[in-house]
Amino acid sequence: MPVETRVEDGVGVVVFSNPPLNPISAKADIPQAIEQALLVFDRDPAVVAIVLAAEGRMFSAGADIGEFGEDPAEVGASPRRLGQTLDALSKPVVTAIQGSALGGGLELALSTDYRIAAADAKLGLPEVTLGLIPGAGGTQRLLRLAGIPAAVRLITTGATVGAAEAREIGLVDAVAETDVRAAAVAFARKVAGAGRRRSRDLAIPDGEGREAIAAALAKAPQGPTGDAVRGALEAIGTGAEQGFDAGLAAEYATFDRLLVSEPARGLRHAFLAERAAARVPGLDPSLRSAPIERVALIGSGTMGTGVALAVAQAGLAVTVIDANEAALDRSRGVVASTIARNVERGRLTPAAGEAQRGLIAFSRDMADVRGADLVIEAVFEDLAVKKQVFETLDRLADPGAILASNTSTLDLDQIAAFTARPEAVVGTHFFSPANIMRLLEVVRGARTAPQVLARAMAFARQIRKVGVVSGVCDGFIGNRMFEEYLRQVYFLLEEGALPQQVDAAMEAWGMAMGPLRTMDLAGQDIGWSIRKRRAIEQPDRPYSRIPDLICEMGRFGQKTGAGFYLYPQGGGRPEVDPAIDALVEQESHRLGLERRAIRDEEIVERCLYALVNAGAEILEDGIAYRPLDIDTVWTCGYGFPRFRGGPMFWADRVGLGRVLDRIEQFAQGRHGWAWRPAELLRRAARSGGFAGLDGDPV
Ligand code: NAD
Repeated sequence: MPVETRVEDGVGVVVFSNPPLNPISAKADIPQAIEQALLVFDRDPAVVAIVLAAEGRMFSAGADIGEFGEDPAEVGASPRRLGQTLDALSKPVVTAIQGSALGGGLELALSTDYRIAAADAKLGLPEVTLGLIPGAGGTQRLLRLAGIPAAVRLITTGATVGAAEAREIGLVDAVAETDVRAAAVAFARKVAGAGRRRSRDLAIPDGEGREAIAAALAKAPQGPTGDAVRGALEAIGTGAEQGFDAGLAAEYATFDRLLVSEPARGLRHAFLAERAAARVPGLDPSLRSAPIERVALIGSGTMGTGVALAVAQAGLAVTVIDANEAALDRSRGVVASTIARNVERGRLTPAAGEAQRGLIAFSRDMADVRGADLVIEAVFEDLAVKKQVFETLDRLADPGAILASNTSTLDLDQIAAFTARPEAVVGTHFFSPANIMRLLEVVRGARTAPQVLARAMAFARQIRKVGVVSGVCDGFIGNRMFEEYLRQVYFLLEEGALPQQVDAAMEAWGMAMGPLRTMDLAGQDIGWSIRKRRAIEQPDRPYSRIPDLICEMGRFGQKTGAGFYLYPQGGGRPEVDPAIDALVEQESHRLGLERRAIRDEEIVERCLYALVNAGAEILEDGIAYRPLDIDTVWTCGYGFPRFRGGPMFWADRVGLGRVLDRIEQFAQGRHGWAWRPAELLRRAARSGGFAGLDGDPV
């Protein structure tokens, strides 16, 4: 039963349940069942007041986003009706909030007369992060409970607030230290005789604060991502000026419009894809594994140090082991300064910073891997070094420990074969800086045991990363695709584009950072060593010489103060360097190419269709399970705009027929060999797109 009722001490208690997150799902009959229960209690003369509560560890995570795509006209209907029903009752209703009350869950609570929150409860309206605004009265009710500035802040940022802050701003009426439901019942008895206190009737606290709307409007992101923020501000403004019903009408209309907008579709897909990526096809979901408790990291360089920080941030103990004392010292320094910076900026309390530091130990002794249930190797990218490390690990690591490698390009199966326990070996491909980047490619070797893969994916969640499973291939999902994207970038330079034009075109399209700036940030030398290897392994797939020429000048990007751009301050804003424009033009000349004006549209199409085609090849080769896994890699690891959903989702929105046509046209042009359409792309174009290959993403 989605809703259970009972009467306690003259108070009618309505408890809904839709585990595990208690979404207010129309499909699961939640709003309808709550409505019925409320009406019964409202008519029952033995009941003096009502408490609304939810079963389980959280009150409600909000609407069921998976239902949004199906019938847009229906999405707002039942929660709105529930709000109206609540407004029409004669008896006061008190909501008991434990865990989180988010989105539609909080809107439901705001539609009742009073809210009692558990001390550790979190409340928020995160709709803007999905390109939406609250659509069941949230903008208007919050405005009247908390005032304009608080409503603007919460709704336009999607931030959550804890119980204490919620109490301060008027969002909740009391904080319960112990049993929140019992506290709500007691509270309900107390207010039973006092009549209703509907949020729709309240005067806006302080009345003022309209300048907060103008200030937020000025800060709203440009372009499609700002639509939701602007829409929310408009609804708040209308409600403040013209009253509750006018504000409500503005809110409903904006929500309905945004629901079917392209950015909201993209954001919804990115959100659902990220969650679905955690469910690995073919892995028994009941395969429960003990959480990781102790981690050992071999190698204290850039990656080892970043991963150690990420692990400690999640509260796990980690020992960083390096053969080189100077490297360990550097790592200690980076750990200390990163934590100190986080404390300084108020991201960590001093005590939490101290605790984090205490979780990271340093050692030169490989025997200190004993006791770790996960060992992550992050030594030099050299197979001979990896061999030596894995042979040692095989001798020293606990039986049952996972042996993970952070290799970016080496063959994981070869690495696994250095041990007598290849089933315990898995890839954990972190992205730099590893304490910040959310993506973790979990690489499944040919012999990786299912429970090891499941445990590695669970570890990703433990350290608050987004895990995506990739098969073994050069570059895995992300870098293999990135390579085809970069190949086109450099060809475009040869044909007539300049670095700043390519970066500006891709950034205007939505990429967080243009490709050449990205390479300057990552370090041009990393790509250089990979290209040198590729030149030997794949002589039939030539590259532009341009990035190599830049590396030969010692310009490795930000770290050397110059790459494709100049960085006079070492980092920060890139400055265009006329010497690079001249180098690019000389290279065109050397190739006998007449430089032509290239439109931004061509830049975007070539970069992105190369990405999509490579993605289709990766699916065909079984490296990624589903298009949604690829989308997640790109939105979480490569600055691909979430509002476009991911490269595969975006390609579907463009239409695979068009994508294929353009690829076939490019195949007729210069370096046409790079444009062989993947068979799977052709098939998907015929059968209605990549989405059909995702299975049920919800
Ligand atoms: P790095 O050169 O910064 O650090 C490597 C560390 O390993 C050094 O401190 C070195 O002293 C130590 N080391 C070498 N041999 C060792 C041994 N036998 N025993 C113990 N310690 C040893 O390298 P990095 O950039 O941190 O990369 C490490 C791994 O992560 C590589 O496999 C690399 O391909 C991969 N990776 C790097 C990045 C990146 O952006 N840098 C991103 C993803 C993956």
